[in-house]
Formats: sequence, structure tokens, C-alpha cells
Amino acid sequence: MSLARSPKDIEKDIANIEHALLTVSEVRSSLKHFTDIVRAEQKGPNFVQSFSDRLKCVKRDLNTLSAEGENLKGALEHAQIAANENKFNWELIKSEAEKEAAEEEIRYREEEANSGKAKELGSIVKASAHHAYKELSSVVLERKSTLTPSEPLFFTKNIHEWLTEKKTDNADLFVNFIKEEQQTLSGSTCRIQIYARKALVADLELEYERGSDTLVIHQYDIKSVKEEKQSWQDSQYLVFQKMNLLATTAFEDMLVFFAREALYNILNWFASYHDLFVSPCQRCHKLLQFDSPQYRYLPPMVRTWAKKQPIHQNEDVPMAQSTGVPYHMRCYTEYRNNHAM
Ligand SMILES: [Zn+2]
Repeated sequence: MSLARSPKDIEKDIANIEHALLTVSEVRSSLKHFTDIVRAEQKGPNFVQSFSDRLKCVKRDLNTLSAEGENLKGALEHAQIAANENKFNWELIKSEAEKEAAEEEIRYREEEANSGKAKELGSIVKASAHHAYKELSSVVLERKSTLTPSEPLFFTKNIHEWLTEKKTDNADLFVNFIKEEQQTLSGSTCRIQIYARKALVADLELEYERGSDTLVIHQYDIKSVKEEKQSWQDSQYLVFQKMNLLATTAFEDMLVFFAREALYNILNWFASYHDLFVSPCQRCHKLLQFDSPQYRYLPPMVRTWAKKQPIHQNEDVPMAQSTGVPYHMRCYTEYRNNHAM
């Protein structure tokens, strides 16, 4: 860990902090929309659907926030070291902080005037969101499709095709349907389990949206193959707790693609974890790295994933990022910062 932070690092830190703050405000706004729906006098016929949609937004934003916490780690460590040395200009910080607090207070009062008791309700909602979400995620809309019954279902068809293609080079991977694929008004849903021998088991609740040709992951859970636990509980193994956080960021990138490609991205990503405990990090070439007092030593638990590349003006530099490359969490963050990804 480098103690000095270059102006470039600090710039990046500030950008990360800004981003996390933006997410906080998104969480707040998702909560507000959600409480509005809960508090509405008239519960229309779409209530269950919109309740579920709003709750998904809240859940997604909270997940994003925990993932972004990872990016702040370097900056926080730096702040802690600086605090120990007590090299701050406290007068300046105090006056800046007071100014910002006053502005935030005004903003909040205005918001509160518009949303009544949104704040208290918000915390109740947050506390029960996970439970309610779990209940709701099993709601499947009644089938009223005009499709001909012979049309193959999206997940059933594409997972089968993927497995057929992959079978030769990866015999240690299994994909099972825990909940059979069911048609909904807008596409289909299913719950699958991906099993990579000696590495991990992933439960995924997926939805295919026919209209936009996109994929949605409603719920996921990654755990050790050795673990006996109830689904959706936190993994007892630190490495898998951390991988669940990483997955939030990874899925966001992988789901930008159209549905079939997105599904392939996800399956390929999990397949790339087959060497989780044996493959050294691409950057430091070591197996274990001290991560933090909470997580202690971790193997390279990042595998790079498919990501849409921004269009570069310089055509000479092909920006194809290879996928499935192992990194430690910290090594990956450094690598990403150096390549401005
Ligand atoms: Zn490393």
C-alpha cells in the first residue's frame, strides 16, 4: 500500500466520493418514491407490480452503494493516516463543513416539506425491504401470452445452447433450473443455480424482457460449494461475502448487452471462477493478499468480465479487454485506475 497519494489519486478519490454521494441521493429518492406508493390512499390494480418495481429500485441502489464503498477504501485509509499525523488545516475544514452542512440542511428542509414524514417511513422501509422483496420476488404474473406454445423459452433455449458450446472445455460446470422457466406478460422468469466444482455455487433469479430484449437479475447469491446454508443468507466465508459485492458492479456492466449476450456474459463469468483458489493474481503474481482487517487474506477473487468499451478516437488502439483474468480486489482497483477504466 502506498502512503503518498498523487494529485491524480486524490482526483480519483474525489470522483469516487462524489459518485457515492450521488448514489446516496439516489437511494433517498428511490425510498421516497417507494414510500409514496405505500402511503397512497388508492391502491390501484397495478399496486403489487409497482410496489415490487419500486422495491427493486431501492434494493438495487443499496447494492450499488455497498459496491461503491469498496472504491473508497484507499481514500479512507489515506484519510486515517493523515488523521493520525494530524496534519489537517482544521479551521479551513471546519468552516467548509459548516457551510456544506447548512446548505444540506436547507435542501433537506425543502425536501421534507414536500414529503411529510418520508424520513421516518424511509427507515422502516429500509429495515423491512429485504424481507418484503424476498416475498415479492416470487410473484409471477399470470400467463396471458399470445405466443404460440411451440416457441422455445428464452432461458431454457440459450442455457442449453451455451452448455453445448462449452461442454468440451469445461466439464466442471453445471447449470440447473431451481425454478422452471415461466412465461410472464413481458417475457419470462426463472431461477437457476450455477455450480462450478471446487469453487462456487451461484443462485440467480433472472427475468427476460422481450420488448427491450434485455435481462434483469432480481436476486443473486454466491457461496462456497462446501457451504450448507439457507438461500439469500450472507455467506459465512469472507471471500464469498466479498464476491457478492463485486458481482453488483460486474452485473451492471454485463447486463448492458442484449439479453442473449448478457446471459452468455454471466455464464462465462461464473465459468471463469473454476480456478478460484489456485490461480495467482495477474498483477502481483501472488496467491494470497492482505485485504483488510475485516476480510483478512483473500485469493485473487476478481475475474475480469465483459464490458462495453467506450468508442475511442484513436483507432490504432484496440481496447478489447480480456475476460476471466484473475486479480486481487486491490490489484484490480489499481489496474483499473491506471487504465482509466
Ligand atoms: Zn494481486
